[in-house]
Amino acid sequence: MNEREPGASQEAPVGTQAAADLPGPAGIDPACALCGSRERRILFREGPHSIVRCSACELVYVTPRREERALMAEVYGADYWRSPAARERGYSDYLGDEALYLRTFRARWRRLARHLPRGGRALDVGCAAGFSMVALAERGFEVHGIEPSPAIRAAAVARFGAARIHGGTLVDLPHKPKSFELISLWDVLEHLCDPLAALARTRELLAPEGRLVIETQDVNSWAARLLGRRWTHYKHAEHLLHFSPRTLTRALERTGFEVLFRTRRGAGKYVSPRFVAERARRVAPWLAWAADAAARLPVEALYVNPQDEMIVVARRAGPGRGSSP
Ligand SMILES: [Zn+2]
Repeated sequence: MNEREPGASQEAPVGTQAAADLPGPAGIDPACALCGSRERRILFREGPHSIVRCSACELVYVTPRREERALMAEVYGADYWRSPAARERGYSDYLGDEALYLRTFRARWRRLARHLPRGGRALDVGCAAGFSMVALAERGFEVHGIEPSPAIRAAAVARFGAARIHGGTLVDLPHKPKSFELISLWDVLEHLCDPLAALARTRELLAPEGRLVIETQDVNSWAARLLGRRWTHYKHAEHLLHFSPRTLTRALERTGFEVLFRTRRGAGKYVSPRFVAERARRVAPWLAWAADAAARLPVEALYVNPQDEMIVVARRAGPGRGSSP
């Protein structure tokens, strides 16, 4: 879906104004990435963006959005991984927070272990600096990663070598079908223009009894409902899609998966007191006093889980799991 479909929009004119936080044109007005419908209801508007819910399938998505190549060039540069405005886009210091990410991924993989194969080949899609891969390698997996953003990929290549880290996307990954016992997408699905194509390719790459792990934010969570447009996952330049348990299941079923396990409890993160302070300020400016207190806490890491992200474990659907959906 790289080009605007002429005359297809049923919304007010969109698309030529720059995103509030970034220069450049905001691109195209997409149809629903899950069902193709253009029927939708506007939940709210912010800057040039409308956040809409598909009337046919309930997927929440952002319009307008950049086309795929512009996304990569304009959104995921070096300033995404060390962002001066992480509340709107990116991370304040992704590499600097290595210890926190390693702790988070070790906890997540430990919690998921009983639903996963004991070892084999694992692929982390959107592996960034490879922190999830480190934790998985410690559990005995042969780890591989894909990371389209060169700015952060260098860190993964330095750690695992160029042969293990692919620079493109799932579509042009050179591996044969059924190559991986485990494929993970941490904070990835919501960034994609075509999530169904990515899931279909994931299915192809997964071994017949392999497992897929997806983590993404839950737009039906209490935090999302309570906070409305102040919900911290509304970052319109990068979070193009907002799934719920139902729409995520629908996306998986449409691409030949069945859901085995779903949790919100396992989706927490170790974060710095500084991060908590930053988020508290976003949620409510009057919480500034609490934010300042949090920032001064004499601890390195806090485990935070607002229960607004979900982790799903899935496998290929059907009795003959080797066949096409
Ligand atoms: Zn839809």
